[in-house]
Amino acid sequence: MTDLPFPVLPGSNGEYIPDPPTAHDRDVEHAARRALDEAASRAGMDRRRFLQSAAGVATVLATLDLAACSSAGKRAARTTSTSARPGGTYTVPPTTHEVEACAAALSGTEFVFDVHTHHVMPDGPWVKNAPSTVQLVLGMLPTDCSAANRLECASRAAYLHDLLLGSDTTVAMLTDVPNSGPADAPIPFTDALGTQAFANALTRGGASRVLVQNIIAPNAGPLAAHLDEMEANAATKGVAAFKVYTAWGPDGRGFALDDPAIGLPVLQKAHDLGVKVFVSHKGLPLVNFDAAHNTPDDIVAVSRIFPDMQFVVFHGAWNKNHVEGPYDANAPLGIDTFLRALDVHNVPPNSNVWVDLGTVWREVSKRPDEAAHVLGKLLSRAGEDRVLWGTDAIWYGSPQSQIMAFRAFQISVEYQDRYHYPALTDAVKRKVLGLNAANLFGIDAEATRCALAADPIAQAKPAAAELRNDGVLPAAYRPNGPTSRREMLSWLRHSATPWTPA
Ligand SMILES: [Zn+2]
Repeated sequence: MTDLPFPVLPGSNGEYIPDPPTAHDRDVEHAARRALDEAASRAGMDRRRFLQSAAGVATVLATLDLAACSSAGKRAARTTSTSARPGGTYTVPPTTHEVEACAAALSGTEFVFDVHTHHVMPDGPWVKNAPSTVQLVLGMLPTDCSAANRLECASRAAYLHDLLLGSDTTVAMLTDVPNSGPADAPIPFTDALGTQAFANALTRGGASRVLVQNIIAPNAGPLAAHLDEMEANAATKGVAAFKVYTAWGPDGRGFALDDPAIGLPVLQKAHDLGVKVFVSHKGLPLVNFDAAHNTPDDIVAVSRIFPDMQFVVFHGAWNKNHVEGPYDANAPLGIDTFLRALDVHNVPPNSNVWVDLGTVWREVSKRPDEAAHVLGKLLSRAGEDRVLWGTDAIWYGSPQSQIMAFRAFQISVEYQDRYHYPALTDAVKRKVLGLNAANLFGIDAEATRCALAADPIAQAKPAAAELRNDGVLPAAYRPNGPTSRREMLSWLRHSATPWTPA
């Protein structure tokens, strides 16, 4: 069965194992497939092509919207206190078979900066040394991946193609999964710099489209070696942020950022090296994770010790095993544990603690009411200047449908009133989609967008979109950049010099 243009069943990001779909999930999926068949035939389009269009995404969003309304209705029937009005809604054209109207409704000109992206080196030493990491990565690849070596679907070429050509993403930060160094890392730091160099060559030395994180595991082996590694990597000037997995360790034991023996020396080192953005994965339990060190309290605590650093809580402590609702200070898991830590440590909104939506948005967007609580809580408590766009692409392939869904999403007036959530206005969406991250990394969004507007990637985008839709390129039109994964791959193989049309 083909993938839906927007996923409705529980997914994995390769870092955790998804839950089996519930009967409700299955009902929504069937309803979406029926709606897609009907809309495609009313549009007079081949079904496969319709699925690849914005109208395909809009049709699924409309189905999710209907499902949310009917659940709200059922809740209201059970209790008298709950209204039948949903908390989160998708605004899409009323007749989703109108393909051009859908394309217009779900398109945008925002500066999109994805702070949470992945790829792998399919031939790296990790493939032999870290079999469990390979299994995790294979588990999250899109089901339509048909490469003989499936890791190729998450290669550097696939990354540059699916993310920069296949979506409205302008700038991305490249990260990695838990590892202890170059021997078991799907992308060792030097290879991440390689990806950045390739992207820069393609853009002909304009503004950079790829920023790089350096993942460190200070609890794997002697600490001093990791501090030296941080220093050597920072000397390349390529480290935009350091990232840790506090809940991970080679022996299954994590560490705390406010531990004087491990966390604090690492933070002091980052601080002294001038790398002022520090990221930690929190929540979203991975295989072999140490739950005791997966809570956000330590990263919020150290934000008070290092007030001139910026701390990013990846996944915002979201946990798939917890249903998000109105803030509950006693919640054992999830985003409420992050909000509680902000309260305990007296961190006001829009302070030096940030959150990213990687995988969180992709999962909660399937349940609009829960999505409204997640965004409402983060925007009001972390602050509307501190929520960062992240997608975990290219796990799952191109993030374009996630971007489209976010554009269409609204927090209902009822939830705004009842829970004091802000309205998800276009201005707030622009902040979340990119302006906040630009601010965090000191990037001038407007200047960057101008610098990149005429680069080969920007110019090749329309042609790449045509090719994805099985379109035929006009004979006289030769796009000024690689348009397909195959062209991207051959460019990467043959040179690191600027792209020249064949
Ligand atoms: Zn990730």
